[in-house]
Amino acid sequence: MRTVSAIATPLRRLRPATARQPSRRHFSSSKDLQATWGFIGLGRMGFAMARNLRAKLPAEDTLFVQDVNTAASKQFLEENPQGVRVADNVREVAEKAETVITCLPEPQHVRGVYKQMLEPATLLSEGVNNQRLFIDCSTIDPMTSASVAESASSTKQGVFIDAPMSGGVVGAQAGTLTFMIGAAPEAVGPATSVLSMMGKRVLHLGGQGAGLKGKLANNYLLALNNIATAEAMSMGIQWGLEPKALAGMINISTGKCWPSEINNPVPGVIEGSPASRGYEGGFGVALANKDLKLAIKSAKDSNVKLALADEAQALYDKVEQAENCKGRDFSVVYRYLGGKE
Ligand code: NAD
Repeated sequence: MRTVSAIATPLRRLRPATARQPSRRHFSSSKDLQATWGFIGLGRMGFAMARNLRAKLPAEDTLFVQDVNTAASKQFLEENPQGVRVADNVREVAEKAETVITCLPEPQHVRGVYKQMLEPATLLSEGVNNQRLFIDCSTIDPMTSASVAESASSTKQGVFIDAPMSGGVVGAQAGTLTFMIGAAPEAVGPATSVLSMMGKRVLHLGGQGAGLKGKLANNYLLALNNIATAEAMSMGIQWGLEPKALAGMINISTGKCWPSEINNPVPGVIEGSPASRGYEGGFGVALANKDLKLAIKSAKDSNVKLALADEAQALYDKVEQAENCKGRDFSVVYRYLGGKE
């Protein structure tokens, strides 16, 4: 894995050899010409990311935004009136922008949006006369991502890379996200330049799809560690151990993990943690469950044997539905298991 520094690398190598003299500046080439950018999906993450992107772009550049929820696009334009245009549809974004970022909920949304952008395969003749750089920040399965990448490359309309992220809404707002990217070597520099305007770390894990594979493997582990921590804490506390003493011991011992140390599920163990504020905020149990499902499905599709997946899945399904747990931080698993609060 490589952490990539934010070097502004021109995208010229990604353009077809026959491309005419570029009419607009692509990232980091001549400063005299405008560049055009697109952002699709102005939700909890995307809205803040697009705002940070717009704030760091040169004033003369134009950012085209689009969301099926027209209220989100309208609000974005109201809050960021300079250099922003609301596109009528995603095809218009693809036609007008050289770099397009997508931040969408699920695989079917990514598939649908890219189908609209890439078909008919006439972007190079009808839009900006350059290959596009498409950066998808959604958390989806690697197979869907690979098929979208293939549609972009086989029609020579663009280079598609996966760049799922971690850091949550707080990181999106603060511009401190970590991106895990799967990209061919020549796309790493340009993608890093773009993503560095919305985050602080870009980790290149390998070719297209590698970012998603890394993210899903990590979030699978996180989901299981979260359950195991809740069970271990509950066990110790019900045996009469003092919660902070137990957590302190685990956190200098072999059981230490992110849920035990940073996001301990027992209220009062860590000041300011979601558990200590009634499990509000943090990493929503529905999102944790979404990532777990994607990881399990993708592993099963690749014949990877998983021993704990089905149990974990069943538990998160129940936690997500439980009246006293739904909509809360995923550490609420502790409450669901009857942990002492
Ligand atoms: P969200 O549901 O808040 O936002 C998604 C946005 O996409 C919505 O505004 C929706 O209207 C829009 N959208 C849906 N279909 C569309 C279409 N066809 N065309 C245009 N816009 C469309 O989701 P989010 O929390 O912002 O997450 C986005 C992605 O990032 C997801 O894949 C999620 O798993 C991932 N992610 C989220 C977090 C988090 O903490 N929220 C953290 C890391 C990764």
